[in-house]
Parts: sequence; C-alpha cells; structure tokens
Amino acid sequence: MRRLFLVGNWKMHLTPKEAHRVAKEIKKGLANKNSPYEIVICPPFVDLHPVKNAIEGSQIHLGAQNVHWENEGAFTGEISVAMLEEVGVQYVIVGHSERRKYFCETDETVNLKLKRVLKSSITPIMCIGETFEERNEGRAKQVVSRQLTKGLQGIPPNEIERIVIAYEPVWAIGTGVSASIEDIDEMHQFIREYLNNFGDDTLGERVSILYGGSVKPENVGKITKINHVDGALIGGASLKPESFLRIVDLANG
Ligand code: 13P
Repeated sequence: MRRLFLVGNWKMHLTPKEAHRVAKEIKKGLANKNSPYEIVICPPFVDLHPVKNAIEGSQIHLGAQNVHWENEGAFTGEISVAMLEEVGVQYVIVGHSERRKYFCETDETVNLKLKRVLKSSITPIMCIGETFEERNEGRAKQVVSRQLTKGLQGIPPNEIERIVIAYEPVWAIGTGVSASIEDIDEMHQFIREYLNNFGDDTLGERVSILYGGSVKPENVGKITKINHVDGALIGGASLKPESFLRIVDLANG
C-alpha cells in the first residue's frame, strides 16, 4: 500500500506568530478526525519552531521547503539537514519549480540534495513538472523524464522508494486552474511506468506520487480519486485553516 499525503507548502507566507496561530487552528480542526492521509505542513524556516510547538501532540508532521546538500560550511543563507532534523523536521521539499526558476536550482543540485537527505531520517518530496511552453511544444513527458533521470541518478531503487514525488505542472501553480483530470492521470501513469526503468520493474507501483497546482476544496475530491494519485501538494489553499481543513475532509483516501 502506498502512503497518502496532503502537504501544505506555505512558501514565503506567514510570520512566526501568524504561522503559530494558523498551525494551532489546523491542529484544532483535525483533533477528532481520522484521515488516511499523512498531513504535512511546510512553513518558512523561521516558522519551523513555532509551528512545531503548535502541532505538538497532533497527527500533523513538520516539513521544510528547502535544504542544502553539504553538512556544514561557508554557505551563507543555507540550512543543513542536521539543522532541520534537530528542529523536528520529517519532510523536506526538494526542487520546487520556484526554486528552479528563481534560485538557479538544477537537476544536478536536486540530485545532490536528494542523496544527502536520504542519508538522514527526513523524507524528501521531489518536485517535477513542465512549464507552459514545454507542454505547448509537446515536450511535457520529455521534461519530466529528464528531471527524473538526472534528479534520481545514482540513487538505488530501495532508496528511490523513500522519496515522495510531486508532479506540479508549472502552468497550474498559483493560477487557480489545475491541470485536467485526464492530464493528471496520464502524467502520473507515465511517471510510474518511467520509474520502472530505475533498476526495479515494480518500483513505480510503490512510490507515492502527489499532484500539485491549484488544488483547492473544489477540486481535491476529483483529483485524489484518480487511481495513480496519492495525494496533493497544496500552496495557496493551505494558508487558511478552513480551506486546508476542507481539503482534508474532501480528499478521497
Ligand atoms: P498553489 O496550490 O498555490 O497553486 O501552489 C502549488 C504549489 O506550488 C505547491 O508546492
């Protein structure tokens, strides 16, 4: 059985005080709920501690949005795996399209980060997905295959199995319009089949693959009903407790 996830990516939103309040409200709303999904919140770095305190004793897991691959050193502005572990982080997003676009992340750095995180107790959430132009030019699958081939290079299948993959078509992020059910289904199926080329021909069946891009209460039910989809990575709609809680309620486990 693949694990199911609903992951909130707060991006660069909410100050520590606001983050604490929002996390507390989400915790309260989830109190007597029994969801088949693992619920993860990924706040900005400075919010990790307050969010950790707010979710204490709940089913919510703590995630981060980025990490560096070196153990330590002169890397101004960066955060190491050990730092995240000590704060209680259990998941980390790697290679989000905004990091690739605005902060020069490449398939090569994604690969270094994944390898380093896999040596720790933290589970990486690897983001892949094509841009609007790439889809229009008919290159969506080619881009996703390249991201997988280079991003997962040198990682054995039993470790790839620990990675959660999030397919986030860049053109659907923050636009309010998600990819169509058919497009999501087709790409998720493609990713599973592609993963079977990584040294284990049933690997694709065992890796959890999430969809991200304008997931909201109105569409989460349909999206999570798709056979090959194991949950969602949610941006904007995870910032408000009521919409995130509705998403948890409406997701099909
Ligand atoms: P939105 O849900 O705001 O479209 O963002 C998706 C995303 O990038 C999550 O990582």
